[in-house]
Amino acid sequence: MNEYALNLAGYPAYLYDLPELEAHIRAVRAALPDTELFYAAKANPDAEILRTLAPHVDGIEVSSGGELAHVRETLPDIRIAFGGPGKTPDELHLAQTLNVDRIHMESPRELSHIAGPASVLLRANLPLNTPNAALTMSGPFGMDEDALNECARRIAETTHIDLRGVHAHLASGLDAPAMLDLAGQIADWALPWLEAQGVDDPELNIGGGMAVDYADPDALFDWADYGQKLPASPTIRIEPGRAITAYHGWYVTDVLDVKTTRGETYVILRGGTHHLRTPVTKGHNQPFKVLTTTGPESPATLVGQLCTPKDVFARNVPVPPLAPGDIIAFTMAGAYAWNISHHDFLMHPKPDFHYLTGEGCHTSART
Ligand SMILES: *Cc1c(COP(=O)(O)O)cnc(C)c1O
Repeated sequence: MNEYALNLAGYPAYLYDLPELEAHIRAVRAALPDTELFYAAKANPDAEILRTLAPHVDGIEVSSGGELAHVRETLPDIRIAFGGPGKTPDELHLAQTLNVDRIHMESPRELSHIAGPASVLLRANLPLNTPNAALTMSGPFGMDEDALNECARRIAETTHIDLRGVHAHLASGLDAPAMLDLAGQIADWALPWLEAQGVDDPELNIGGGMAVDYADPDALFDWADYGQKLPASPTIRIEPGRAITAYHGWYVTDVLDVKTTRGETYVILRGGTHHLRTPVTKGHNQPFKVLTTTGPESPATLVGQLCTPKDVFARNVPVPPLAPGDIIAFTMAGAYAWNISHHDFLMHPKPDFHYLTGEGCHTSART
């Protein structure tokens, strides 16, 4: 990465390493011989990333009509699962036009807008135990037992809707043992319930949320352990996003100014958290590498160009002596980074996007 990052035409820029991403998804795929693997597009729907992942996944999970249209256009033949709360009648209609494989129903109201033949999973909001989760997806997501029973009753009265199973994305930031424990709890509730509804060959979509540790980039989710311990039946489907793409994107930028104010050193970088919002939303220091210099380290706070004290990439982190023109690459910027950021705030220029490929590096226009 370094040699390319140092020779980019301009900063800031996103740099994605497609061969390494492909090696990663191959390894994840190999670790999950008996499990269906969908990629959650909302983590990063970049078309080059989707095309890199497509040969190695069973499908893509989308969470809006916009993602659905984009994924279908990018990958005309891929299987798609469509989830997310508050689906509009138009979006549910689009799901049928664009040949969605599974629709995850979030409410009885959504069910009432399914007009044509559809295979659905019901999203369950189960009061399960998820210690150590970074986020728990309770509240508005999915349905409690009463609403699930109501949906099952309505489906039984139709001929065009096929109930295939249960979807449960209940927490994020869990390691492999915690994910396995959660999968067991979901199966213990869902399998008897599906049997009671007369569902043959039930499917369990147990969601995404596999942990990514920004404080310890080497602590990878243990896919091998997870894959070995997941049961071969019933059909289990997962839909991770962050743990697939986080590691293969960088936000590379240069130092504009260095100043010490009331004893604190600030390094002001071109761009800001309107391009890489991840450290603000997650409340962490974004990991980074200084590419152009080394030397004795002292603490500094890395900020961007925005006129808000929240524009902080990393606070009080050790850095070598930095000067304008030095180049810094923020790592782990491949998921929930550019696409969750508020790009237009302050109207600074947008980053370029560069893609490492087997043949070198190519660049797409600013988006
Ligand atoms: C966001 C989301 C995912 C992906 O979660 P990650 O933490 O990126 O793995 C999967 N399924 C659903 C329903 C989601 O909302």
